[in-house]
Amino acid sequence: MTDHSASKESVGSYVAAAIGQSEPSETPPSLSNVPSTTSKGMSGDTSWAIEQYDSAAQEEAVRAMLDAFGLGGEHFEDTPRRFVELVRAFTRPIDLAEVLERDFTSVEDNYMVTQVSIPFAGLCAHHLAPFWGSAAVGYLPRGRIVGISKITRLVMAAGRNTPTTQEAITHAIANTMFKHQRLQPSGVAVVTRAGHGCMAVRGPKAPLTETIVSTMRGTFAHSPQTRQEFMDMVTW
Ligand SMILES: [Zn+2]
Repeated sequence: MTDHSASKESVGSYVAAAIGQSEPSETPPSLSNVPSTTSKGMSGDTSWAIEQYDSAAQEEAVRAMLDAFGLGGEHFEDTPRRFVELVRAFTRPIDLAEVLERDFTSVEDNYMVTQVSIPFAGLCAHHLAPFWGSAAVGYLPRGRIVGISKITRLVMAAGRNTPTTQEAITHAIANTMFKHQRLQPSGVAVVTRAGHGCMAVRGPKAPLTETIVSTMRGTFAHSPQTRQEFMDMVTW
């Protein structure tokens, strides 16, 4: 069982360090392997960049929002800046395929590589509330393998791409690996498990509820035996 009581800040800074990117890149790379959606800012859309938006104007807007709520005083002085930083930290549209930039020759085929306990955090598109948890990713190499740290970086980057849904993050990870031009694995399996801030403090007010999303590609989708072998390794 993953401990979701870990502080948001520690998870966030861990994610930022793992992505190795303290600032969003200046130019958004082209979209190649990631399926895009039509809505601006949804997962996989790298055709826009947060740099196009003025952070001073964003702070001004947040200040106006606080004023509209009648919130002010010492503790709120820097809140606009903090909130803008928070949203911008989860608005880093990048080509996820580029995260898997390093691959190597596989010594054999017909085996499974599984990574578990990959921490990730996201900001939900519906409430701009944080969600966080862990992911498990498995794939079946076909000629090429990817550096294992890249799988962890991919999961973390998928969470930071844009405010989105856990479902979209899960699919983005699977599609990025399965459709990767050099890797071309014969199967990919992704399971994410997360607690959602918006579920915890509003709506059903269910702080202990966790959401598990799983998606399978290739052999994992077609072979119950292969899928079971993967799921047996996913011990939360
Ligand atoms: Zn939400």
